[in-house]
Amino acid sequence: MPEQSPERKAYMEEYRKRPEVRARRLERDRTPEAKAKAQERALHRDMEKRDIYMKTYMREHREQRRVYNQVYYNEHCEEIKAKAKTYAKEHPEQVKANNKRIYTSYKDLIFQHYGSKCACCGETERVFLSIDHVNNDGYQRRRQNITNVALYISIIKNGYPDDFQILCHNCNFAKILGPCPHWKNGMPPATFKIPKITMQADDKHATRPYTHTG
Ligand SMILES: [Zn+2]
Ligand SMILES: [Zn+2]
Repeated sequence: MPEQSPERKAYMEEYRKRPEVRARRLERDRTPEAKAKAQERALHRDMEKRDIYMKTYMREHREQRRVYNQVYYNEHCEEIKAKAKTYAKEHPEQVKANNKRIYTSYKDLIFQHYGSKCACCGETERVFLSIDHVNNDGYQRRRQNITNVALYISIIKNGYPDDFQILCHNCNFAKILGPCPHWKNGMPPATFKIPKITMQADDKHATRPYTHTG
């Protein structure tokens, strides 16, 4: 819509205040159609209801959206990237908050899947827990500069592979040194997933054989 001139704006304001115009408007607002429209607008103003509506819609149209988004992205790739860059520059706080929200929601899904407690000692305090690479190959990922969020996405996309588990930081650390003190007679609890690979002579990052007893 073209910008209204100040004169035009002032005129419209005055016009809307005229008694006969007001009366006509009120008359119109009383019709069932107008009421329905107003209700619809109120619904959309109500963010919570809108949120539920959007979520349901998204869920029910997942496949159509995926196809549409892919086609749209392919056609507008450069434009989208440029826009995202500008947006990130202008709204660093929002971008940070949004990334954190995404990161947390992926992490929640992964924790839910792997049991939300330490596979060794059963610790459930979330701040003590981490996602453990069963085969201790996390260092390879770090070497390739794969971020946590990229890892989470790949775990979810690959249907939660068996080579991850939840461990608390203590048990995670103990796992690197040797059997965790929680193990009984050198045997881990049934929930603990034992690494499939052992240390290569030249690879100080990989698993040591469990010979440590101290
Ligand atoms: Zn533990
Ligand atoms: Zn333990």
